[in-house]
Amino acid sequence: MRVLGVQMDQRIIDSIEKIVGKNGYSTKSADLYTYGFDASIFHNTPDMVVQPRTTEEVSEIMKIAYKERIPVVPRGAGTGLCGSAVPIKGGIVLAMQRMDKIKNISIADLWVDVEAGCVYNDLNAELEKHGFFFPPSPGSAEACQVGGMVATNASGMRAVKYGATRDFILGLTFVKADGEIVRCGTRTIKDASGYQLARLMCGSEGTLGVITEITFKLTTKPKKSASCLCAFDSVMDAGKCIAAIIAKPLIPASCELMDKVSIEAVNKVRGNPLPNCNALCIVEVDGETDEIITRDLKIVEEVANGTGAISVTPSYDKKEIAKWTDARKSVMVSLAALKPECSSVSLADDMGVPVSQVPKAVKAFQEIAEKYNVTIATYGHASDGNLHTKMVIDPTNKDEWERGVEAVNEIFDVCIALGGTVTGEHGVGISKAPNFMKERASEMSSIIAIKKAMDPENILNPGKLNQWEGSILTNLRYPCKGL
Ligand SMILES: Cc1cc2nc3c(=O)[nH]c(=O)nc-3n(C[C@H](O)[C@H](O)[C@H](O)COP(=O)(O)OP(=O)(O)OC[C@H]3O[C@@H](n4cnc5c(N)ncnc54)[C@H](O)[C@@H]3O)c2cc1C
Repeated sequence: MRVLGVQMDQRIIDSIEKIVGKNGYSTKSADLYTYGFDASIFHNTPDMVVQPRTTEEVSEIMKIAYKERIPVVPRGAGTGLCGSAVPIKGGIVLAMQRMDKIKNISIADLWVDVEAGCVYNDLNAELEKHGFFFPPSPGSAEACQVGGMVATNASGMRAVKYGATRDFILGLTFVKADGEIVRCGTRTIKDASGYQLARLMCGSEGTLGVITEITFKLTTKPKKSASCLCAFDSVMDAGKCIAAIIAKPLIPASCELMDKVSIEAVNKVRGNPLPNCNALCIVEVDGETDEIITRDLKIVEEVANGTGAISVTPSYDKKEIAKWTDARKSVMVSLAALKPECSSVSLADDMGVPVSQVPKAVKAFQEIAEKYNVTIATYGHASDGNLHTKMVIDPTNKDEWERGVEAVNEIFDVCIALGGTVTGEHGVGISKAPNFMKERASEMSSIIAIKKAMDPENILNPGKLNQWEGSILTNLRYPCKGL
């Protein structure tokens, strides 16, 4: 086994078996191969997969890993799109799916205590019984775990109105690299008690500790919602419409943008659920009463018509709205069908720009795609400025990868220059690491110092974020000659 310093042997495997039992770990090659993937373009095989059941078990495992200097990569559902859960230095993958309990809900105090391995939709199914919800709504809601969401500060369609995962964390429990168990934060709505360690853990991508339990703040679920499908001749017009809706002021529950490439892909694969046009927005409004919904939908219609929409379709019909939403959610998988030999790959896939800069950013992305002769689809949660640009390439073609990387580097430069970020929701992992270092240059010495203080032996998800070196075209999951 590859470890940092000491060889991991049967002795270590035996001591981990004592903690988690015979069924709580695997060193079988098929399991190891499987746990070497997440949903990104990367792969690397770990040496052991361990599935703890309690915070105490995590602590005991970390004590062994710390003593023996074994890399440990915490893993949720493996739905990450930038390689954050790929164990590039081998070692132990700590898979959290057996820690999936919803432990306590206090309606009076507006919090829920939940284990890190609980799936997002399962938590919401429980909260819904009480009239509450945990709003971030990532596209991977059916699979991703709340621990993975905290570790990446995940968000989704509803972030513009309700915020990201970070905005719902009151406190959490995590295990440090040396096995110490830390409970941080509170179960109060307000907390001004010094350093906010729970906030620091949010977005740490498994590099600072293993999150085992989280206390989330509860919020009520709005009773009514409706949507409007607005079609445009250009993405620039769609971008202007989004900025104008917000300037009204009206904060929609969600506002999804799709460009021509995305629309074509979905219509091809899903039997034309969307109008054929160059761009569209699906705007959702929500609230407590029918009057609010009707009023807000009318505003959306008026703004869309006033910003050059070629068709505007308001709807209160849940089936019709679900058809639009499903179409939007299927962009990523549909893109691969555009060209038979191609895949849609996540290279620059979730940049954030100020909302007012969305039209400028999208125009620049189109010019960059032309310059490098690559197919780029742009879609996303445009009312919070979060844009997805998936690239459709032949993953066995070295030249296409290299052109793709040059294109995304320019895309990142554009976003940073517009006052944006290289990642609005998926995190840094591997694919965004070099540009993350560029974007956060002035924070880098503090980031390095924090990592050193929390993980002095560098065993937690080593080699990621600021530790990534060289090209991102390594550890690819695809067979590609020359890479
Ligand atoms: C189809 C699809 C749609 C998606 N849509 C969205 C979207 O709309 N919004 C969005 O934000 N993301 C989206 N994603 C990306 C991904 O689902 C999110 O980043 C999600 O939060 C990852 O959760 P996970 O449980 O799968 O974590 P993983 O992928 O397993 O891990 C992600 C990172 O978190 C760390 N981690 C996981 N669990 C823990 C833990 N308990 N303690 C410490 N670190 C931990 C890992 O080490 C890794 O660095 C999408 C992915 C797919 C495949």
